[in-house]
Amino acid sequence: MNCLYCNKEFKSKRATAKYCSPNCRKLAFLSVPEVSVPTLSVPEKEAVSVPNERVSVPKPLSVPTAEDLYDAISSYPEDTWKDSPEYEELMKRLRSTPIKVLEERGYYIPSWKYSEENKKYTTS
Ligand SMILES: [Zn+2]
Repeated sequence: MNCLYCNKEFKSKRATAKYCSPNCRKLAFLSVPEVSVPTLSVPEKEAVSVPNERVSVPKPLSVPTAEDLYDAISSYPEDTWKDSPEYEELMKRLRSTPIKVLEERGYYIPSWKYSEENKKYTTS
């Protein structure tokens, strides 16, 4: 049989002997690589996919900005934008926000006026 450490052929009285000498047995034991402790860290692939999933959250779930609404409204053909949910949402926001505040934020709506009488915005 051959020593498992130095690979030297040796004869042993014991059939279970694996090393030619106590020294080889000791060295073999010392040279056994440490058992790697499983780490708790998330595999790189998975770690990367998490932020990606967050990024790919469908837009309808997020609150659209006024710019988003304007863009969506302007993408409707003809004057169908008047019945669009985006327009409805924008109007809802506008109704709850004084024009003065909107203008301070940089949103200037030229033809819209707030009617104190009707308590709503009109385009006339
Ligand atoms: Zn040996």
